[in-house]
Amino acid sequence: MARIQSWRRGCCGGPAGPSSGEGPAHGAPPAEETALRRLVSGFGQFRHQHFEVDEELFSRLLEGQHPEVMVIACSDSRTDPAIICGARPGDLFVVRNVAALVPPPTDDGQPHGTASAIEFGVKALGVRHVVVLGHSFCAGVRCLLEHDHGARRFDYVSDWVEVAREVREEMDGLVTDAERAPLARRAEQATLLASLRNLAAYPFVAERVAAGSLSLHGWYFHFGWGVLQAASGPRGPFRQLDPDDPLRPAIGGLQVLPGGARADAPHAAAPPAARMRSAAGRGLRAV
Ligand SMILES: [Zn+2]
Repeated sequence: MARIQSWRRGCCGGPAGPSSGEGPAHGAPPAEETALRRLVSGFGQFRHQHFEVDEELFSRLLEGQHPEVMVIACSDSRTDPAIICGARPGDLFVVRNVAALVPPPTDDGQPHGTASAIEFGVKALGVRHVVVLGHSFCAGVRCLLEHDHGARRFDYVSDWVEVAREVREEMDGLVTDAERAPLARRAEQATLLASLRNLAAYPFVAERVAAGSLSLHGWYFHFGWGVLQAASGPRGPFRQLDPDDPLRPAIGGLQVLPGGARADAPHAAAPPAARMRSAAGRGLRAV
């Protein structure tokens, strides 16, 4: 099938290694040592520019964290939410995993890292907004689409991305070589929306959304274009975020006006949890 053939090129591969003869120059530190030194140096800059300057902020953080926003983001090194959104220490409660997936609620008694982070952020910290942050060129979503080939070389990734298998099923038969890139972008947005709907299905999330104390957002960072888009609803569509426009959630009743004021957003009430659960993954029509 054209679909399978087209997805079989290089699943989740990192950058190609150096070609023969392109290693570090004689006497130069290995690349990985340079990278680590850059981090240590970066921490020095952080101390100098932030920790030693903003005494009030760090004294307050010493007493506890009170972030208003939780972000569920991909582990991809290019999409750090604190960096791309200019957050300060204490602004964001973050969980990151491959493809920014939110599994549906379960009571199977097994440990669940992402669910426990969501529970802590919502119940213990009382965040007012949860943002599922997807991105373009996501290797995790590519693994999801290629599960029958490339992704199988992983022991854990292939099982993990099955959380969004309904997205792959939606894409079946749709992909040709000519459509490969735009379909990948659609799959990334559909996966984000599936995670958003799964998130809304957690009872403690649904309760707070219904009470108007929690809003859910689906943001998509296209780093090829350098733009940030937001889902208008649990099935999209995505529109570019503009700092001068009201910030409407995809699910929930709170919107944030320019300048930080809050207002009701009656267009986006939370659907019942059961309907959310059955709808998870069927985001294709919305993107
Ligand atoms: Zn990713």
